[in-house]
Amino acid sequence: MNCHCGNTETYQECCEVFHRNNGKTDTAEQLMRSRYSAFVLANGDYLMVTHHSSTRPTKDKKAIVKWAKSVQWIRLEVLETTNGTEIDNKGTVTFNAYFFENGNVEVIHEKSAFVKENGHWFYLGLSD
Ligand SMILES: [Zn+2]
Repeated sequence: MNCHCGNTETYQECCEVFHRNNGKTDTAEQLMRSRYSAFVLANGDYLMVTHHSSTRPTKDKKAIVKWAKSVQWIRLEVLETTNGTEIDNKGTVTFNAYFFENGNVEVIHEKSAFVKENGHWFYLGLSD
């Protein structure tokens, strides 16, 4: 079975590795994919630890987890990445995340910004 993030590896070989090491990914796209998997699994701790401290929505953690559990996740589609490789310190990932909510298919379309600090990628928020 494919990982939640859509990669052909299993969850154990893919996003679980990062869920167990606090998001120490090589690329921004891996971090983004592992954060999507964390939404699927309603893993609020992971969503917080991978969110940059300057924008981390700590107060909203409970609400985020509750919402993540309340919807049915369908799939992730990564549309475009810029930078975000092993040699970069910044990057963006543009994606569609599909889910059912109240019987409707909804989509989150976002261009996310990522930054690397001390060799660690973090989700910063919406890109300009
Ligand atoms: Zn994965």
